[in-house]
Amino acid sequence: MPELPEVESVRRTLMPRIQGRRIAKVEAREGKLIRPSLKVFRKGLTGRQVLGSERRGKLLMLGLEGGAFLAVHLGMTGQLIMAAHRPQADHLHVVIGFEDGGESLFYRDVRRFGFLAFCPDRAALLAGPLANYGPDALGMADALFVERLAGRRTPLKSLLLDQRALAGVGNIYADEALHRAGLSPCARAADLDRADLLRLHEALQETLAESLERGGSSVRNFVDAEGRPGTFQEAHRVYRRTGQPCPACGATVEKIVLAGRSTHFCPRCQPAPR
Ligand SMILES: [Zn+2]
Repeated sequence: MPELPEVESVRRTLMPRIQGRRIAKVEAREGKLIRPSLKVFRKGLTGRQVLGSERRGKLLMLGLEGGAFLAVHLGMTGQLIMAAHRPQADHLHVVIGFEDGGESLFYRDVRRFGFLAFCPDRAALLAGPLANYGPDALGMADALFVERLAGRRTPLKSLLLDQRALAGVGNIYADEALHRAGLSPCARAADLDRADLLRLHEALQETLAESLERGGSSVRNFVDAEGRPGTFQEAHRVYRRTGQPCPACGATVEKIVLAGRSTHFCPRCQPAPR
C-alpha cells in the first residue's frame, strides 16, 4: 500500500499537471470514499482553482483558492491518475474535470480503503483528516526523531507504524529501515541508547530518499499520477523476501507477525534483544 515515498511521488507528478487550473466538474457517488458528503464535496470543489500542495505522512493535501483543501488518502489501493480520456479501468470512483478542458484527474481504488475530503479551511483539515498525525517522517530532524521514540516501551516495528509518533512510515519502510539499522523489530526504544536511535533515523531517511529517487515501491498496484510504477521494490532487502538470502549476510530472511502485521527481518543482522 502507498506509504510516504509513494504519496510524495504522486504529489510530485501531479502538481505540474494540476497547479493553477480551475475545477469545473466533479463526478462521484455518495459513499465512504467522499467526505463529508457528496453535496458538500461537489459544491466545495467546483469553481475553485488549485493553488498548491502539501503532504503529511500518507495524506496528500491540495491547497485550493479561498484557503480550502482537498485531502486525499490512497488507503491500500488508491490511485490518482491524470489523463485526457477516461482510462480503460474499473473501480474509477471520482473524476475531477477542469475549466480549460485539458486532462482530468481520476481516482481509482479497488479496495476502497482510501478517501477524498473537502475541507473549507485549515482548521477543518487539522480537526479532520490530519487529526492524530504526528510530524512528517521525511527530513525530520535527529533531535525530533529521538524525542518521538525515546523511552517508548512498544516494539520498534509498532512504534514506526504509529502515525501519531511520526507520519508516513508503513510496513515496507519500517522493515527496510530496521534491517539497515541492524535493529530487531521486537526491540524496545526504551532499551536502546541514543546512538541506536540515531542509527535507525539515518537508516530510515536513507531508505525513504532512495525510494523517492526510484518513484516509490510498486508492491500491489501503485502508480504515480502519470501512471508509472515505482522500482524501489527491486531494492528491498527484507520486505516480502521471506526464505530468501539476506543481501548483507546471506542468512535466510524470516517473517513473524508483530502487532498484527507481517514483519520481515534477518535473524543474523537483527538479533533479538537480550
Ligand atoms: Zn543479514
